[in-house]
Amino acid sequence: MELETMYQSLGISPQVLEFAKDTEDSLKHRFELIDSRAEYNQLKVIKAMQDNKVSDIHFAATTGYGYNDLGRDTLEAVYASVFRAESALARPQLISGTHALHVALSGNLRPGDELLSPNGKPYDTLEEVIGIRESPGSLKEYGVTYRQVDLLPDGTFDFEGIRKAISEKTKLMTIQRSKGYATRPTFSVEQIGELIGFAKKIKPDLICMVDNCYGEFVETMEPVEVGADMVVGSLIKNPGGGLAPIGGYIAGRKDCVDRASFRLSAPGLGREVGASLGLNQSLYQGLFLSPSVVAGALKGAIFAANLYEKLGFSVVPDSREERHDIIQSITFGTPEGVIAFCQGIQAAAPVDSFVTPEPWAMPGYDSPVIMAAGAFVQGSSIELSADAPIKPPYAVYFQGGLTWHHAKLGILMSLQKLCDAGVCSLA
Ligand SMILES: *Cc1c(COP(=O)(O)O)cnc(C)c1O
Repeated sequence: MELETMYQSLGISPQVLEFAKDTEDSLKHRFELIDSRAEYNQLKVIKAMQDNKVSDIHFAATTGYGYNDLGRDTLEAVYASVFRAESALARPQLISGTHALHVALSGNLRPGDELLSPNGKPYDTLEEVIGIRESPGSLKEYGVTYRQVDLLPDGTFDFEGIRKAISEKTKLMTIQRSKGYATRPTFSVEQIGELIGFAKKIKPDLICMVDNCYGEFVETMEPVEVGADMVVGSLIKNPGGGLAPIGGYIAGRKDCVDRASFRLSAPGLGREVGASLGLNQSLYQGLFLSPSVVAGALKGAIFAANLYEKLGFSVVPDSREERHDIIQSITFGTPEGVIAFCQGIQAAAPVDSFVTPEPWAMPGYDSPVIMAAGAFVQGSSIELSADAPIKPPYAVYFQGGLTWHHAKLGILMSLQKLCDAGVCSLA
């Protein structure tokens, strides 16, 4: 068969292909559900672009201060519409997700305020932003205190603990939608809504911010629709659709977004400056593609969960769970397993497929880490990518894939490498 020959030419054996076929066939219904959500979200994005009269004049580059950058201002209006927010910042001067989160937090917190995390320890890079790990320039150095309430053993919010933690000083609650690289479940938008409703009953003026990284367009609703005052994310993850070469966004209540804008540029300048430097078209087109890119990534995650669960490995989320983000983890239990998996993902990439990733001692990590990324945009994790710390339980985290067919090839290649290394057998 033609397709089989093509897979073979890329290094996938007929056995691996045959083994995966049943898994794929069994997922037809779930894939249809993902496609229908993507269809809704695609229409949502098109409607936002039409309502804001996006035109090719908006793709023109500005330089210098970037006063009256129509393309930037209109893109931000589109982001606001898509996220059902009053206002938004979406621009290349927000360098990454961490930077956008830092700007949103430090723009809205003042000395003497307290920041609350209701989901335990936040994403790794925020530890230094907050000052959980001492760092020059942290919120802690500016007199902002921090409190966290850990999740209950079943991964749900500890509502009683949160009630006790909210005080006069509590100014802002930061909720992380995706589990990131932790082992807890990811929250649905509905669960986030319940938490926000609960917290605002206790303190109506509490600013509720959601770290939306990896969650955009997985559901048909976004957190502002359930009461969040701000949502924050990275454009080299879901909403950039793989085309945004840089950027972050903050969308939400106008006063919150304005305060963030004064922190991003300078008091008095705010959102009025910041040239788009010719990047606008990629940011618009990436947002346009994002719903279907996210759908491809979700199919890949579900395909991998089903394939590897069938082989007896533990997977989170499991093969049948409802998805609220695009991250999949698989526990192999041995260094050989995670190394072979990452080498397979790399070997299936459109870029740098000929390099072999090896574990290395990355600064800031307590064990060697292996990373696979054959990406068009450095560090982009909406593109198919995987990483694993080389320590027990030897779990790999992977996400992305700009198209379902690429995600599928990557996962087949990972299985091929695991078989070749003798880590698993299909017989
Ligand atoms: C990726 C991520 C971040 C940080 O984003 P960067 O762009 O890597 O700085 C923060 N929170 C979560 C949940 C993430 O997944």
